[in-house]
This record gives sequence, structure tokens and C-alpha cells, in this order.
Amino acid sequence: MTASNQSADVIVIGAGIGGLTAAALLQERGVSTLVFEKNRYPGGSCSSFKREGYSFDAGASVFYGFGENDSSGSLNLHTRVFRKLGIDVPTIHDPVQIHYHLPNSFTVLASYDREAFLGTLINRFPHEESGIRGFYRELDDVYDIISSFPAGSLEDVIHLLAVGSGYPLKAISLAQKCFRSMGKTARRYIRDEELLRFIDIEAYSWAVQDAVSTPLVNAGICLADRHYGGINYPLGGAGAIPEGLCRGVEKFGGRIRFHSAVSEILLENGEARGVRLADGSEHYAKAVISNATVWDTFNRLITDLRYHVEKDRFQQAPSWFQLFLGVEGSVIPADFSVHHILVDDWQSYNQPGGTIYFSAPTLLDASLAPPGKHIVHAFVTSEIDMWQHFDRGGQAYREAKERLADEIIAKTERILPGLSKAVELKILATPLTHERYLNRFKGSYGPLLKPGQSILQKPQNRTPVKNLFAVGDSTFPGQGVIAVTYSGVSCASYIARKFGTPLEELV
Ligand SMILES: Cc1cc2nc3c(=O)[nH]c(=O)nc-3n(C[C@H](O)[C@H](O)[C@H](O)COP(=O)(O)OP(=O)(O)OC[C@H]3O[C@@H](n4cnc5c(N)ncnc54)[C@H](O)[C@@H]3O)c2cc1C
Repeated sequence: MTASNQSADVIVIGAGIGGLTAAALLQERGVSTLVFEKNRYPGGSCSSFKREGYSFDAGASVFYGFGENDSSGSLNLHTRVFRKLGIDVPTIHDPVQIHYHLPNSFTVLASYDREAFLGTLINRFPHEESGIRGFYRELDDVYDIISSFPAGSLEDVIHLLAVGSGYPLKAISLAQKCFRSMGKTARRYIRDEELLRFIDIEAYSWAVQDAVSTPLVNAGICLADRHYGGINYPLGGAGAIPEGLCRGVEKFGGRIRFHSAVSEILLENGEARGVRLADGSEHYAKAVISNATVWDTFNRLITDLRYHVEKDRFQQAPSWFQLFLGVEGSVIPADFSVHHILVDDWQSYNQPGGTIYFSAPTLLDASLAPPGKHIVHAFVTSEIDMWQHFDRGGQAYREAKERLADEIIAKTERILPGLSKAVELKILATPLTHERYLNRFKGSYGPLLKPGQSILQKPQNRTPVKNLFAVGDSTFPGQGVIAVTYSGVSCASYIARKFGTPLEELV
């Protein structure tokens, strides 16, 4: 074993949003960090890639957390983190989170304007007006509580005491809400089956689960914040967020090594001591943070079977089939919303391909495409088992991808007539692509809570291995760029206090 002397106080495995947020905030407090990233670029599921003059978002493209409105409190985490780092990531406001196109000619604009959004629902379901208002008020209550708390770690006793003594009633109320489900709460107020299906698709839009399986607290964060902090798109695309965080890490002296895959977390007597890279080099630190999924961290990077994570501990979310299209600009009307969700049949909305997610981010930032062109980014859930039997370089794989892409484009013509003829560039990604480029077990969107599990059962940042910490969507609070940013903040906050240099409050 030869140590390469490239040690730091903290080694971070992966330059996803969770890992970079933790690294940048620790480095800002003088805790030295060294990030190893398998890819040649940062961001993982929130990165951009360029092809033939287009800049595509690899995954995420609907962003919370960039509001400037201080009433959005600690939920404006991107604004607050970048302010702390002194890094500018300009964004453009998007007035509609999602334009839903649902069965039975049911369309809804989930607008920034809360009354306009509720008004659309009330117009369609006038008999449910009080139920609609009551349910969405529940989400606002969660939002109101969380946005008034400072961001910190639930494992940090000092932080918990500060929140408990500063906001005793809100803390008790939130603790009770942690055990509630979004769908069961909706059923206290709403009876109409079609409206309950809409509540399901609101959950599914980001949680990839129906509303009953989705914790109320997560719903309160996402579905209320769209009306307060709002949705804001980073100029230059999704990759502008991790690039900004990288600038933050390096500004304070941290280091990021790209094209550096970690193959093992080195343990000694149940304690993390460092990492081994794929090139065989070893690097040591006082603590290690893993931004990989819970399955990759404990079943691949750690060889000691005592830490193995059982398959059924969490529900494994599906992966994705994605289309990255460069299209002739005239096919997209100027007043088109940027983000859309299409469901043709409620019976299959939660089956592979049953819900089509669809974005045209060039409507907000024309520089992402050559002049006169637009980007169409469409995706559906898919399972790796449906693709594993293919040879990735083979004709049969190519044909299966083309067939599915044609089906999705044909369905999308419902809202964009002429799309199939307007496509000039087509890049297709299956769960195999996701496993390879996002470096995620089975290309999965990550572990989901099982119905009945409370949000507090999501792993926190500490792990069963001493001095090994976890960030990202396998940890509390879960999937989504703003959620994993929270996990990075809470992890940095815990470690910084442990190292004697507590984070200052993010303002
Ligand atoms: C198709 C799709 C659409 C989405 N849409 C949205 C959206 O609109 N809005 C939203 O908020 N969220 C969205 N999400 C979810 C969001 O992108 C993710 O939840 C979030 O980006 C995950 O961040 P993370 O920090 O957990 O890590 P990841 O993004 O998974 O990053 C982990 C990083 O670690 C690296 N890594 C892993 N293992 C190793 C190793 N052994 N050695 C070195 N490096 C390693 C990976 O290469 C990667 O860069 C979407 C996700 C997908 C896939």
C-alpha cells in the first residue's frame, strides 16, 4: 500500500450536486477537500453535454431554490449557497413549472401564480373548491415551517436544539407531519377520482411514485415552493449549477480530479481511511463523503459484507429512456410552455413509458441551440431489465431504441404537431446509458421510500461506517437537485462542526 500523499481533510467521491455542495461549503470553512469524479465533467444527473452546436441537459431541467424572495427562507438554497461562495450563477424565471396534458382533455398549467393554478383546478372541479384549497393549504403549511428553519443537519444536536428552542411550535408540527403521506392527506379533503389522479401525477412528476407513497413533507417543499421561490433556469443549462459549485470549491483552495473513478473505500477497523482509485493509487483523509447511490457505496465500493445493503430495504426507482432532439425552430410556438407532462391513460401512467416528460429549454435560453433551432428533451421511465439482453453496439439495440423513440415522438405530436418531421439531431439514451454515464446502480433514479415509511427513515449523512458520510439522493430528503443540495449542506454542516469550524448560517 503506497499513499500518494494527495490527502485532504475530506475526500469526496463524485462531483454530483450533493458532493460538490458539501465540498464547496467545507472548503469555504477551511476544511481541505479533494473530489474524485469518474466523468470528465461535473454534475452527474444535473450536467450538460454538447453535440453539434446543441447543449443538452443530461437529466434535471426544472429547478427550485434560486428565488431571491427572502420569504422563501431556507428553501432558496442555491441562492444562499452561491451567495456564501461569492459565485454568480445567473438564472431566468420560468412562469410555469409544468404544463400537464392529461386524459379526458384535462390540461393544467402549474403556474408560479398560485391563484391562477388553483383557479384552473376549481374551474374543472367546482364541487371540490374547499377540498382543493384545504389540501394545497396543507402543502403551504409544510413549506411555511421548513422555510423558516435555518438549513442544518438533523444529526447535529446543537442544530436541533437551536431549531427546537427558536421555533418550538413549528418543530412539533413538522415532526407530526413527517409521518403523513401526501395522498392520504389529499383524501382527507378530496373525493373526486379524477382530481385524486391529478394529485398522483403531481407526486409522480418528481417523486416517480403515486401520492399515497410520497411523504407530505417532500410534497410541501416542491409543490408549494413553485409559487414562492418559483422555477428558475440557469443560463447556459443545467451544467451551470455544478460548474458554479466547482468554481466555489476551487476558489477556496479545494481540488477536483476528473476522470478519476474510485474503486474502493478503504476501511480499517470499521473506519473509513481513504479511497483507492481505478488506477490503483490510494488517497487518505480524515473523512470520506460518498455521493454515489446507497447500493454503489455499500455493495460495490465497500467489500466488507457486514455493511451490505439488502435489496428490499428501499424501493428501487426505475431508470429512464431519454430523447435529446435538435429540432427545426418553427415547430415550437413562441407561447409554448417550457416543461410538459403527457399522460394518455390513467391506468398506465406509472408504468414504463406511461408518462412522457418533455422540455424545450431553448425557449428560455436560445444560446443552447444553433440559431433558428430548438431543443426537445423528452423522457419516460424504463427498467434496465428491458435492455440488458442487448449488445450495446448491435443493430437490434439501435432498432429497439429507434422504435421506442418513434412511439414517444408520435405521442408527443398531440401537443407539438409536426415534431417527427422537424427532428434534425436525435440522441437516445437507455438505462444502460444511465448506468454507464451517471454511474448509478442499474441507472436507477435512486432509492424511494416504501409506502408507509416515514421521511425520517431516509438515510441521513452519517453511515454505519465511522467517518464515512453520504450525500445525494440516497439520503434525506431525497431526489431532486434542491433536495440533494440540502443533503450537501447538512453533511457539510455536520462535518464542519465536528472539525471545530461550524458553518455560518446561510443567509
Ligand atoms: C432524467 C432525469 C430528469 C430529472 N429531472 C429533474 C428535474 O427536472 N429537477 C430536479 O430537481 N431533479 C431532477 N432529476 C433528479 C436530479 O437530477 C438528481 O436527483 C440529482 O441531480 C442527483 O444528485 P446527486 O448529488 O445525488 O448525484 P448524481 O447526480 O448521481 O452524481 C453523482 C456523481 O458521482 C459520480 N460517481 C459515482 N460513483 C463514482 C465513483 N465510484 N468514483 C468517482 N465518481 C463517482 C458520478 O459520475 C456523478 O457525477 C432528474 C434526474 C434524471 C435522471
